[in-house]
Amino acid sequence: MKINREATMAGEYDVIVAGGGVAGVAAAVSAQRMGKRTLLIEKTIGLGGLATNGLINLFVPMCNGRGVQIIKGMAEELLRLSVKYSYDTIPEAWKNGEPDEGEKARYVTRFSAPIFTLALTEFVKSEGVDLLFDTIITAPVMEGNICKGLVVENKTGCEFYGAKMVIDTTGDADVLYRAGVPTIQGQNYHTYLPKSVTLETCKKAAEAEDMSKLYGNIYAGGKATLYGGKQPEGKPTRGGTTVKDVTEYVIENHIECLEDIKKDDRWKRTIVTLPNMPQFRTTRHIDGDYTLRVEDAYCHFEDSIAAICDFDRRDYLYEVPYRTLVKTGFPNLITAGRCAAGEGYAWDVLRVIPPAILTGQAAGVACSMAIDDNADICRVDIGRLQKILEEQNVMIHFADKLIPEREMEDVSAGADGHI
Ligand SMILES: Cc1cc2nc3c(=O)[nH]c(=O)nc-3n(C[C@H](O)[C@H](O)[C@H](O)COP(=O)(O)OP(=O)(O)OC[C@H]3O[C@@H](n4cnc5c(N)ncnc54)[C@H](O)[C@@H]3O)c2cc1C
Repeated sequence: MKINREATMAGEYDVIVAGGGVAGVAAAVSAQRMGKRTLLIEKTIGLGGLATNGLINLFVPMCNGRGVQIIKGMAEELLRLSVKYSYDTIPEAWKNGEPDEGEKARYVTRFSAPIFTLALTEFVKSEGVDLLFDTIITAPVMEGNICKGLVVENKTGCEFYGAKMVIDTTGDADVLYRAGVPTIQGQNYHTYLPKSVTLETCKKAAEAEDMSKLYGNIYAGGKATLYGGKQPEGKPTRGGTTVKDVTEYVIENHIECLEDIKKDDRWKRTIVTLPNMPQFRTTRHIDGDYTLRVEDAYCHFEDSIAAICDFDRRDYLYEVPYRTLVKTGFPNLITAGRCAAGEGYAWDVLRVIPPAILTGQAAGVACSMAIDDNADICRVDIGRLQKILEEQNVMIHFADKLIPEREMEDVSAGADGHI
């Protein structure tokens, strides 16, 4: 059976950003700030992706654990935005910027996911980005390896938006995969962490006059940690890129979470918010021109677009090669966020919220440059890209004096939290 759907021509843009998670927001604002007409398409009705709809409301450390801020640029801007209208948990030493060198407290914060969602809408609109909510991207339209635009489905029907450049920030590399760009499939443990409150947590928050103490992951479905701790025995991992996987994930976790909550007095606890997207860390990412690896810690890359730090260990530093965002042969497709190319723990360091924002920022600038120069996105002038990003307060290369004088530890064994 062949089903033909007619798509209405609905608009033409310089840049289309597919998916409004933190990486997509950064990419769209970044392209728009470079003067490009930009459309951001999001399938839900709120921006932020996993960071908001997925209830992952923690900006992981943006410093080296010794008082030096590594991650800056739009990640800093969005961290500050995430707490502008609600509580924060920024350590005192970092409240007003970089502290004295040697400071052990790390530059992190929790934030209110729903309030950040509201702030992101205001941010994106105030920057002049066009935005479509409740719109699912179904297919890229390809002429050979060139993407002419995206077909979407929404309340209006089936629409087509044309673009000169497309940035895939779907988190699942949906656009790249369907465009024929090579991608890598990941596997996920069983994790489902809603935000809940009890009378006790309410009392604690009231006594401390601090809403950040109000709620937590008291009732849950899957409780598996980053490296599979608490993964139920015999339970298979999930790829998260088929409807069967997603549906089974939701059904199992709803039922398990309900079993968990049934144990306590129904008058003394409630769930405030359920995750509104699957809490899958790794679905699909680009098999890019370069794959960031654990051994790349402390390496300088000529095509670095940002220095980033390890969220779990002090000192560990990486640079993100531009090549992790592109695949030669696809001249107007680029990615960012958790679709960037990395393997093992290096990908974990690359995919978390602050680096995801920085790769988004870089992708937006790169698209603008490629349009101006009529160039292949894989061959943009790296020196000029780095200069523009530096002017936007991104650290491109970390200073060698920040490399500790000791042997590297095994970095794949440690972190087993909920990051
Ligand atoms: C359990 C768990 C714990 C984590 N803990 C932390 C933490 O503590 N701190 C931290 O910094 N990071 C953490 N992370 C990682 C971090 O949340 C994500 O890697 C990061 O937020 C990814 O951002 P993104 O914009 O790349 O992708 P996403 O947040 O996945 O955004 C993708 C967006 O694209 C939209 N989209 C997808 N497909 C389509 C389509 N076809 N059409 C239209 N829109 C589409 C989605 O709705 C979504 O809004 C955690 C992740 C998980 C799963």
